[in-house]
Amino acid sequence: MPKMPVDPEVRIGQLDNGLTYYIRHNNNPEHVANFYIAQKVGSINENDDQRGLAHFLEHMAFNGSEHFPGNGVIEYTRSLGVQFGRDLNAYTSIDRTVYNIDNVPTTRQSAVDSCLLILKDWSNGLTLDPAEIDKERGVVHGEWRLGSGPSQRIQDKAWPELLKDSKYGHRLPIGLMEIIDNFTPQTLRAYYEKWYRPDNQGIIVVGDVDVDKVEAKIKELWNGVTVPADAAKIPNEEIPDNNEAIIVLGHDKEMQQNQYLIMMKHDGVPEELKPTMVSMIYDFGGSVVAEMLNQRLQEVAQQPESAFIIAQAQDGKFLSTKAKESFMTVMIPKVNQDVEAVRQIMRELSRAQQFGFTPTEYERAKESYLSELKKLYDNRAKTKTEIYADQYIENFLENEPIPSIEDQYNLTNQIVPALSYDVINELAKEFISSSDTNLVVAGFLREADEVKLPTVEEVKSAIAGVRAEKLEAYKDNVITEPLMAKLPNKGKIAKETENKQFGYKELLLSNGAKVILKKTDFKDNEIVMQAFAPGGMALYGKQDYDNLKILSMGIATAGSGNFSSNELTKVLAGKQVDVEFSMDVTEQTVTASSTPDDLETMMQLLYLQFTAIKADQPAYDQGKGFMEQQFKNLSLNPQMVFADSLQSTLTNNYPLSRLPKAETFEKADYNRMLQIQRERLANARDYTFTFVGNFDEAVMRQYVEQYIASLPSTKKTTKKVDVKHIWNGHVENRFKAKMQDGQSIVVEAWRSNNVPYTVENRTLLRAAADVLEAVYLKSIREESGASYTVSAQADVDTDGKEYYFTLMGYCPCDPAKAELAESLLKQGMNDAAKSIDPEVLKKVKEALLNHFDDDCRNNKQWLNYIYRYNKYGVDFFNGYKNVVNAITPEKVSAFIRDCILKSGHHAEVVMMPEPAE
Ligand SMILES: [Zn+2]
Repeated sequence: MPKMPVDPEVRIGQLDNGLTYYIRHNNNPEHVANFYIAQKVGSINENDDQRGLAHFLEHMAFNGSEHFPGNGVIEYTRSLGVQFGRDLNAYTSIDRTVYNIDNVPTTRQSAVDSCLLILKDWSNGLTLDPAEIDKERGVVHGEWRLGSGPSQRIQDKAWPELLKDSKYGHRLPIGLMEIIDNFTPQTLRAYYEKWYRPDNQGIIVVGDVDVDKVEAKIKELWNGVTVPADAAKIPNEEIPDNNEAIIVLGHDKEMQQNQYLIMMKHDGVPEELKPTMVSMIYDFGGSVVAEMLNQRLQEVAQQPESAFIIAQAQDGKFLSTKAKESFMTVMIPKVNQDVEAVRQIMRELSRAQQFGFTPTEYERAKESYLSELKKLYDNRAKTKTEIYADQYIENFLENEPIPSIEDQYNLTNQIVPALSYDVINELAKEFISSSDTNLVVAGFLREADEVKLPTVEEVKSAIAGVRAEKLEAYKDNVITEPLMAKLPNKGKIAKETENKQFGYKELLLSNGAKVILKKTDFKDNEIVMQAFAPGGMALYGKQDYDNLKILSMGIATAGSGNFSSNELTKVLAGKQVDVEFSMDVTEQTVTASSTPDDLETMMQLLYLQFTAIKADQPAYDQGKGFMEQQFKNLSLNPQMVFADSLQSTLTNNYPLSRLPKAETFEKADYNRMLQIQRERLANARDYTFTFVGNFDEAVMRQYVEQYIASLPSTKKTTKKVDVKHIWNGHVENRFKAKMQDGQSIVVEAWRSNNVPYTVENRTLLRAAADVLEAVYLKSIREESGASYTVSAQADVDTDGKEYYFTLMGYCPCDPAKAELAESLLKQGMNDAAKSIDPEVLKKVKEALLNHFDDDCRNNKQWLNYIYRYNKYGVDFFNGYKNVVNAITPEKVSAFIRDCILKSGHHAEVVMMPEPAE
């Protein structure tokens, strides 16, 4: 097998000490770069007394190093406009640890050099100060608490069995809390010194940088770093094969619904073959086999006799480990039908294994794969920095091939057509096995009086039963009809104006609809559309509340034109299109996206969305079954209970803002939902259709006349909004929720009276939230270790006439520190009303300006600029930078004090845990 060529645009090198680097110049986006250090070690490399310390060490990278003492890394990068958590971050998994600094401005070489110095400090200069370690224990404990819950508890118990006889079974990255709370600094240092060495490290720099200078700096910084002669080798941890099926059924009282993972283990492409075409063929095979099977599973799920609600297969890493791969089907059964559900899944797997797939199924899956690749290829000149960076990280850590996009596209288009469908069916037999060898089944089950837990024996005998059945081959119901057999009568563009401020054309059509065309060159493969109109849920009364609450879910399952939703999937195979309807209180929106190639298909789907929604009862029943299970046991999910209570408080108990309940699904009427949607889309005159992206204007105009000017219309809908759904004065909502691993959530929110919606006010609100978040991170996370995460959010509400601005602090925390968190949230706000640290605001402003530079070259963001301009009459594009630059600490303080705090509208929502029985 020939090797895949390596992209010639990336400079790869290795120093004598083993440090590997990848440097690539890329102009998308301009004037910034991303920096990474990838370590070939993770939690699998911990000793028994170090469980959790690979991850703990990652936290310590932000708590002091040789050149950046204390929070120096966070402070310094923030001064570059880099945001901790978003642009500056890291993750630890079982086999790797990766750190990143993204969106670093590169106009000054000193910023580039300093970020390389940070990577160098991370690689071997961490301070690991015992006092800082002690402070961080609470933060990591908080992270564990945040992730803990029924799935985590089942996982903790199941892992050793699922990964029997392997070290992997005992190395989930979060580790053991008794170790996190008690380890000595020396135990952490031992891991750091043993594994963080240049021969295990890769430096990846991609962006608008001078490649030579970066390379020289890397050589200079790591010069003199050596690897001890007796350095430990990274052991090859294995996961042994299993001859008999491993079936582990874990259960927990807080699980909301049952879920099964049915996994067939297999080896991945061997290390030495990874850089060859074998990798590409294998990826292609895994992807199309999963796609074909998923289409079948979806058809089964919609039959009334289906015992499962939803099932989906994919090929990938086995339980996130590097050592094995698996073909995995994830399935949610209907209540008390688990065993039959497993039987049905195994039957489809066996059917595919025995008879393979049909040529027409393969044709569709192949087209989908190739069109996805073409989309990447078409945009190759504007490939984003992070896409390259991810590829180089995978190449360094796992030897994945890194051809240029041109090579990948050309080679795929040579090889894939040459792969006959028999070859794919042979490959399918490698992914889907015919015996119990290497079969692993994991159940995450709900323990409750009304449900009967299946036993391992029952699952085992269901599988054996299927193995003995005589099956028939699958018959593909092929669709040859086009999406639209007959085109509508064309309308006309009646009037045309140009908007110089935003550089767009505005067309008024013969049916009264308005169209805005903004051509951009930000991406070569993207066109996005948003159509909005006044109306929304406020037009409907109480009798429709149940329908409205689940409307978007209900109608998402509908078909279009002559086709059911499943048939539509077949008709649209190989097309990159999406059209969606949604509705909020005061307006409804249709969004759509496509590539330039598939623009006409998108326009047809849009036309059908307005004129020919088709009821699809089986699809609705399936969707409803899925949602019903999610919401039925909602009281078991503390996060959701909190979200619902918070909404209830902030909206003054407005019923439409509340989450649906189980009875909502019983009362809702599918046909009424479709009727509401048809009503809301009946009049094109209400709508403004905004298109942004890379389209040919002449072609677009034809489509606009053909598919939009032809939409039915009547006279304008009158707006009807008189809902008051926002809290007043001081309100408190303190409650207890039952949960096993206690966690609290504290929210403090303040809102203004009516505030004019101007660019300045909206930007002051945003700046105030960002400043508060920085204050909270320092006081709540860094100084008191009360929480792993804390955020501040800004929001604008309207009752249709007036605007209300809200600032909110959100903090999930240790129940013992809930009171402290609450007082710190309030204190931060009160202090900010008096004065704001100019340094903090300076950094916030730089981050806002950085985001703006990104946003300016983003099609979806342009939809937003145009939308806000048309709706509020405000211009967030021209002059935005001046507004940001003019913000001063005094202005933000005055805004918080006079606009928000003075109004006296203050809400507190606090959830405390109550031990579960
Ligand atoms: Zn963490």
